[in-house]
Amino acid sequence: MTTGGTTETTPRVTMEEITALAKRRGFIFQSSEIYGGIGGFFDYGPLGAILKRNVKDAWWRETVELRDDVVGFDSSIIMHPQTWVASGHVAAFHDKLVDCKNCKHRFRADHLPSLDKCPDCGMSNTFTEPRNFNLMMKTSIGPMEDSANAAYLRPETAQGIFVNFKNVYQSARKRPPFGIAQIGKSFRNEITPGNFTFRVREFEQAELEYFVPDDGNDIAVYEQWVTARKQWYSDYGVRPERLRFYELTPQERPHYAKAGTDVEYLFPWGWGELESIAHRGTYDLDAHMKLSGKDLRYFDEASKTHYTPILIESSAGMDRTTLTMLIDAYETETIIDGEGKESKRVVLRFHPKIAPVQIGVFPLARNKPELVERAKRIERSLRPFFRTQYDEGNVGQLYRRQDEIGTPACVMVDFETATDGAVTVRDRDTMRQDRIAEDKLAGYMSDKLGLP
Ligand code: ATP
Repeated sequence: MTTGGTTETTPRVTMEEITALAKRRGFIFQSSEIYGGIGGFFDYGPLGAILKRNVKDAWWRETVELRDDVVGFDSSIIMHPQTWVASGHVAAFHDKLVDCKNCKHRFRADHLPSLDKCPDCGMSNTFTEPRNFNLMMKTSIGPMEDSANAAYLRPETAQGIFVNFKNVYQSARKRPPFGIAQIGKSFRNEITPGNFTFRVREFEQAELEYFVPDDGNDIAVYEQWVTARKQWYSDYGVRPERLRFYELTPQERPHYAKAGTDVEYLFPWGWGELESIAHRGTYDLDAHMKLSGKDLRYFDEASKTHYTPILIESSAGMDRTTLTMLIDAYETETIIDGEGKESKRVVLRFHPKIAPVQIGVFPLARNKPELVERAKRIERSLRPFFRTQYDEGNVGQLYRRQDEIGTPACVMVDFETATDGAVTVRDRDTMRQDRIAEDKLAGYMSDKLGLP
């Protein structure tokens, strides 16, 4: 069953427009650009770094801080190599790859509509036999580069939580149902990275592992997490018509999983996965207990019994979610000024908690020291409570720039400010301008932006 995701008719932003804006305004750059770039790696610029941090903070706030049944965690990227044997990644974490013998291009076999014809050069019957390609990135530990020192960069953050399950529940004094959450880097040697930051080789995941007793409530808890995650996307402003929750069929799920939902967003190229939510049974803890020989079961003091809790997992990609926020917020509008002149504006309609800058503050004239001083003073006074930015220059260009980076409100200090003690506040979405007394500004902004 799929819920959400209706068809849209309004024209969508193209990926060219998104990548151009991301570079122009300092959200995302290609990694090592001066050396020609490196496929599947990206850098977040000044605004992108804040945007991604806001996305991660929003996840952490709702998943850890505002709950009393989830604790935070941060495990190492490189783990004992046996971890990946137990998890199944050494044996089975691969994609099938094929090469075109004519144009030498490489593809993921499951991404091709047919193995008969190469989509790049159009030649028939030029593909090699599909080969397994393990997606884990290898490195070596210490000065000797031999197989005994081989290690992997983690392809997911979850395993760090599983191997520490006992350490965490004992030290945090938690009993199931409870969860462990972490956000961190993961690495996958993707065969065909692409669609900007959607499929990359280094990315951040936010994973929640929620452990429940086997008391018949497991499916209900799984459903509660699907609902909670739906709420999260809605609370942070992702358009419901571009989001869908696809319930996996038993054939699509791993054999040990009792239920699974993929959260998908309608990107300009089609639907793409943002997150997977799964009921994983006791598979992961069982696998580590078997290989390590260590008991990771929970000891229930009340009944004096040991049991292996059932696991409900939510695994979301923070780079994909950040890209979603950027694409989802993007709109172009035709505006008509007082003299009837038409112009276009690009506006990012970020949720105020996600917007990298929440308030822009400017003087009406940059050559009037009294206006400049006052605008700077106002910006400094708002800075402890909001993400603010002082800027100066041509008024039209200032607004245009703040619209393009998604700043929900702008404050203008003008010639009347000195006499009436008030400033003009301009709303990003409606472009309405209100006159607000300077001493009421912080309270007004808290209400307007829905911030405490
Ligand atoms: P896909 O089918 O798109 O390769 P997956 O099903 O392998 O993804 P999971 O292993 O379920 O992905 O990982 C959980 C989340 O981590 C994904 O929903 C996605 O948001 C993120 N993720 C996985 N691989 C990548 C990647 N190469 N680049 C960016 N994000 C990724």
